[in-house]
Amino acid sequence: MNGTAIQRFNIVCEYIHDLTDEGWEKMKAAIHELETASVKGDDDDEPEPSSNDLVCIFCDATTESVVAAIKSGWIPSFFVGDTRQDGPVCVECCAKCLSTDERGKVALKPEFAVGQYVRVQGGREFKSHCVVNTATRALVIHTAGTLPGRLAEEYVVVDGGKHPVCPCRLRDNYTADEQAQMFFWK
Ligand SMILES: [Zn+2]
Repeated sequence: MNGTAIQRFNIVCEYIHDLTDEGWEKMKAAIHELETASVKGDDDDEPEPSSNDLVCIFCDATTESVVAAIKSGWIPSFFVGDTRQDGPVCVECCAKCLSTDERGKVALKPEFAVGQYVRVQGGREFKSHCVVNTATRALVIHTAGTLPGRLAEEYVVVDGGKHPVCPCRLRDNYTADEQAQMFFWK
């Protein structure tokens, strides 16, 4: 992901609620400072990122600009308990797994957990963020990737524990004890 795009997104989100002239001036100054700093630090031969897209951490959806992200309701971060987790998160994933309390704090729904989805296929390993429902054992959001070849292993890591994953239709192939440790996708 392009660090500058997400940094700019965070700045805009920070000031978007203060639409006074002073608020706009502060926001413009913060963005100017960010852009000036990134130009100054750019004296090596590292290739420029080819895209300024923001990428949803859960589903890999992209949006081409900070303005488009703000307009469509992407959010820059959310809380898991008392810990702030960096996004950004797209509108669809917000609707699926986040809720807003009466004070405006955006948090992961209490029955959900954020983990890492891993698929080993064709001798390669694919990893992405995922969201699981620990009550229903559903894999709510994951990106399966497009690796070719034979599927060797599919699992999620949640709270430090490794849990096998399989499609819902194969759920009955496992004992109740096994199912209690697994997650299932539709
Ligand atoms: Zn998303």
